[in-house]
Amino acid sequence: MYKCEATCSLCNYKISIKVEQKNMNEAEVKLSSECPNLQQFTNIPLHLDAIYEIVNPKENSQFYRLLKQHHSHIDRCAAYDSVLDSIGKNLGRYYELA
Ligand SMILES: [Zn+2]
Repeated sequence: MYKCEATCSLCNYKISIKVEQKNMNEAEVKLSSECPNLQQFTNIPLHLDAIYEIVNPKENSQFYRLLKQHHSHIDRCAAYDSVLDSIGKNLGRYYELA
């Protein structure tokens, strides 16, 4: 499990991120934030293909596409970068322990 906090530089809301690697591919991401743009994503755990998300650019990211549907300033929000960073760090840890 990897946890971190980020602050969106545009709206100043804090974003708490928890990532847990479920198996070799699947990461479970839990977000909490008061940011109105992220409310769609805060109550449900998101299941993402960790390796896919890491090797693919933003334009192909499932997570980015998901965020973009509900988030008005995702390109300048810390959410995407911070979550991706957390997935990467957590994945590194997972493979170290496995
Ligand atoms: Zn924001």
